[in-house]
Amino acid sequence: MSRRTRSYPAGGEYSGESGIQNERILVLVFGVINWDPHVVCVAACVSRKLRAVARRVLWRELCISRAPRMAWALMSGSPEGRVCGGFHALAKLLFFCCGSEPSRGSGGHFMRESRFSKTSGKSFLVRKCWGDLLYVSDPCEHSMGPTEDDVGVYRGVFRAFMKSKTRACLIKRQVQLEHRVRCPYCGARVWSMRTARLVPRSASRRLGSHDGTLEYFVCVNGHLHGSCWLVPLSSDEDDDVALCGRSNGSYVSD
Ligand SMILES: [Zn+2]
Ligand SMILES: [Zn+2]
Repeated sequence: MSRRTRSYPAGGEYSGESGIQNERILVLVFGVINWDPHVVCVAACVSRKLRAVARRVLWRELCISRAPRMAWALMSGSPEGRVCGGFHALAKLLFFCCGSEPSRGSGGHFMRESRFSKTSGKSFLVRKCWGDLLYVSDPCEHSMGPTEDDVGVYRGVFRAFMKSKTRACLIKRQVQLEHRVRCPYCGARVWSMRTARLVPRSASRRLGSHDGTLEYFVCVNGHLHGSCWLVPLSSDEDDDVALCGRSNGSYVSD
């Protein structure tokens, strides 16, 4: 894409300095506001030029700044520090809970802070895929009303999914891509891990779910999303245990 380096755009588009200077200034400015994802979203909508800058620089910087260990781990070993599906999708995954499926009537929403964990990720892998690196979030608890159990919504991401054992397994078993579900983070097609019979029992235990038929999806870029029914709590005191004791996450986003 060609850059305007000398003249300002005539129309109502963003008018600024040269491309390089803009990017540097933007990175500094966003650093001061701790890479607020809302503001990066707004900036990316201002003009085509800023959208391109966001795609090229800002989403990557946001991920590295807000989730450094996770971002570097996901980039490690990949040419030019790329991540499958791009940094805009990874940024969305860090800060957006996609809600549960429409039939359960619970929508997606922004999350100020999330905890992702490799240990949690491992419990979503069958033994022969333990060599893969997968980060999974704590479940976000969605209340379905006084007469229903809560739903836990979780999400995750593989490192270098194209080279993963999980993907090799899916290909070897000739698992078909789903028709009705798309990845909420990159829009790509997904595999059902239940259909693929790649859901270990440790995943339900990890989630504190009583759902014997746990279902989650992995897209062709290695983003994971799913939901489950959570075990009901017996009293108010149990709340603290449920919220604090579930994870030993290796990363906190803030
Ligand atoms: Zn949620
Ligand atoms: Zn995806």
